[in-house]
Amino acid sequence: MDFYNVLQNTVKKYPQKDALIFGEHIDSFAQLFIKVRKLIGAFQALGMKRGEKLAICLPNCPEYIYAYLAALSLGITVVPLDASFKKEEVKNILRHAEVNYLISEKDIEVSEVKVIKDIDNLINSANAVDGQILDEKALAVLIYTSGTTGSPKAVPFTYKHLDSPVATLGYYGYDEWLERNICYVPFSHLGGLVYLLMTVYFGSTLVLGKRFIPGVFLKELEKYKITAVWLPPSILEASLNTKEINEVSLKTLKAIVYFGAPAHPRLFKEIERRFPHIYGVTGYGLTESAAPNVLFPRDMPKEKRYKKGIVGKPAPWVKVKIVDDKGDKLPCNKIGEILLKGWFVMPGYYKEPELTKEIIKDGWLYTGDLGYLDEEGYLYIAGRKKEVIIVGGLNVYATEVEFVLSEHPNIKEVAVVGIPDILRGEVVKAVVVSRDGLQTTPQEIINFCRKKLPGYKVPRVVEFRSELPKTPVGKIKKTELV
Ligand code: ATP
Repeated sequence: MDFYNVLQNTVKKYPQKDALIFGEHIDSFAQLFIKVRKLIGAFQALGMKRGEKLAICLPNCPEYIYAYLAALSLGITVVPLDASFKKEEVKNILRHAEVNYLISEKDIEVSEVKVIKDIDNLINSANAVDGQILDEKALAVLIYTSGTTGSPKAVPFTYKHLDSPVATLGYYGYDEWLERNICYVPFSHLGGLVYLLMTVYFGSTLVLGKRFIPGVFLKELEKYKITAVWLPPSILEASLNTKEINEVSLKTLKAIVYFGAPAHPRLFKEIERRFPHIYGVTGYGLTESAAPNVLFPRDMPKEKRYKKGIVGKPAPWVKVKIVDDKGDKLPCNKIGEILLKGWFVMPGYYKEPELTKEIIKDGWLYTGDLGYLDEEGYLYIAGRKKEVIIVGGLNVYATEVEFVLSEHPNIKEVAVVGIPDILRGEVVKAVVVSRDGLQTTPQEIINFCRKKLPGYKVPRVVEFRSELPKTPVGKIKKTELV
């Protein structure tokens, strides 16, 4: 769909509705639109042209949104970055993406890149101008998925790809519940873009959370009358462990969507026990597939929703195939690599043809995730291919062991990794965060697992930590646990 038209239609539909809330700052859709149009005028006055690239390196803030939407309305590719990125990482990306303009408060100098500092001033001094009609194949956004590793890997989104997340949400009828959303995900991540798209396509109010603090977050859900929220399970887990969880009623909240990492059914049960009106949903997909592509249908039976590893049904346009190591298709209920195919799959990593050949073959996206389909077409995730631990030749899925461990009453958070072992090749290591005031010994944890798992899956090493390292989105950084 034409991006600027979609934005314009949403503004016409809800001119007085809150579009954006950031602390005391509120923009109605009409106010947001005028700022975006003025910025389009300012960008044109600066000489920005369709097909050029604009990097934005700010913390999440209203100016980030105005600039993102203005660039998309003009056919300027957005390279969304995060203010927490180090200067060198930003420079690497600017060079790799061949960026023409950069919006940043930092002093970053790269030849050929013009730096824009004061967005508010630009908005105030420009004339409002309309956006343009753009080719759906044009490059809209370049998202860097591992900017921190030093080897940039950029996922391109065309204007057509921008339709993907909202198409899935709309197909499953979640647009009705996405009245007011709160976002803590950095705009540098696909998750942040999905929040923006929900505002543009569905007219959802977007509340920008400042810093994620579990107790404060729960209070903010109430304060801002949030209707739906997207969280990695670890963030939800942290919220359930606060005293505030007993103080909030979350009356307006209709759905909690878990994404990005496996969610133990215990989390769904606990939320629904405390707040029976909230529907727990899981979404699955990758940046490379313009996620989400798979979601819980709204009428999914409870018994089904509580199955371990289940992530829902693929949208009808999402082809899913499960294959073995040789690439041969596996039957229902057999675990193998999950492949996705359809218009939503990225054309290939930007300027990385070799890497692209490894991940897209014959149009199929090799997700690197392991899972299976059941007879009814529901998809289940067993783990990540690179996180499989091979103990004496036998496969151990980290997720399975994590699910068992997270049933232990004294364990607040846990992650399982493989570590080298002379005899068995690898053994299982569990890294555990205890619940406040509740102590457990490694032996107790090992004994607990022995009752529920075969010997080779039982952790040989248990390490206690006060917290687990997380990415800016809240996913556990397993590479730092080995
Ligand atoms: P990066 O590429 O930046 O290093 P990443 O691999 O986490 O990070 P994303 O595209 O953000 O990249 O996340 C996609 C991955 O997240 C999937 O491949 C899958 O492993 C995991 N994932 C997403 N949704 C779920 C889910 N519902 N359950 C389990 N795992 C999930």
